Amino acid sequence: MKKALVIAPNWIGDALMAQPLFALLKARNPRLVIDALAPKWVAPVLARMPEISTVFPSELAHGKLQLSARLLFAQQLKHEGYDVAYVLPNSLKSSLIPFLAGIPLRVGYRGEARFGMLNVRHANPPRDKRPPMVEHYARLAVKPGGRLPESIPDPKLKTDPVRMAATAERFGIPPQTRVIAFCPGAEFGPAKRWPAAHFAELAQMLRRSFPYAQIIALGSGKDAEIADEIVKGAPFVRNLCGQTSLDDAVDLLALSEAAVCNDSGLMHVTAALNRPQVAVFGSSDPRHTPPLSQAASIMWLQLECSPCFKRECPLGHLRCLKEIEPEMVFVELRQLLHRP
Ligand code: SF4
Repeated sequence: MKKALVIAPNWIGDALMAQPLFALLKARNPRLVIDALAPKWVAPVLARMPEISTVFPSELAHGKLQLSARLLFAQQLKHEGYDVAYVLPNSLKSSLIPFLAGIPLRVGYRGEARFGMLNVRHANPPRDKRPPMVEHYARLAVKPGGRLPESIPDPKLKTDPVRMAATAERFGIPPQTRVIAFCPGAEFGPAKRWPAAHFAELAQMLRRSFPYAQIIALGSGKDAEIADEIVKGAPFVRNLCGQTSLDDAVDLLALSEAAVCNDSGLMHVTAALNRPQVAVFGSSDPRHTPPLSQAASIMWLQLECSPCFKRECPLGHLRCLKEIEPEMVFVELRQLLHRP
């Protein structure tokens, strides 16, 4: 086996949790070339994975069939000579390109009626019995029903100090500045977002203890409004949401001394950069999608209603997040900041 194509997940966090699969494939066959076909908003993180050779960014929209675009991709990939494809999303459409490209082995979980599309099919466990996401993907490295290696490596992203310094300069952050990053968004929905007022109160506490630190808020344009709310309560916080590319955000997280993140793609990026972080969990479950880093500290109240995995709180009170007081996160963060 010489060449593999990965059909990457549609979410940044999932793409990072798939990286140990690539590391296991490489460990088993160091000469294997692994390329990835990824949505353009995920492609930058795959490009920073040491196991991936080439990333083909796609414009394919999440949830849309776009058959002619998939046919075109399949035709292009036909000439690459792939021996095997690993299809990570569960949808039928995600398995179309490797099938149409005539890739002989097509590995994935049984998903939406894709019996003919995949020819190495793993049983898809029911949601409540699903192992941690990282293990779920890593299983594709072994035969269906086979045993996983004892230890699965954590995700790791490449960084480039020259690039990081240039990015910091572009955003007006002088060298040697102590940067603390807030990642207040979570694409999934409000039941995963720690309240902006809590972030603002935390910023005020940090200001008193670390007066020279620069606090920045990172995220997409959709998170800018939440970050504006934080700035209302803590005007010294710089709202960079929507102003950075994903690559810029990775650079800024890499140079941050610590971060506070919701359960989001940037939380997994911070973990893969091995930066200290407090990861705040609400409606989701840190046993399923934890930040995979020794430098991460998880705040999760594990209420009787949690995890509900809902986008919005079905009980209307959002206690799982509101009751994580800023003081609690501050104490945890201060410990991380004082760690040698
Ligand atoms: S039901 Fe419970 S876990 Fe779900 S969002 Fe509401 S408070 Fe959080």
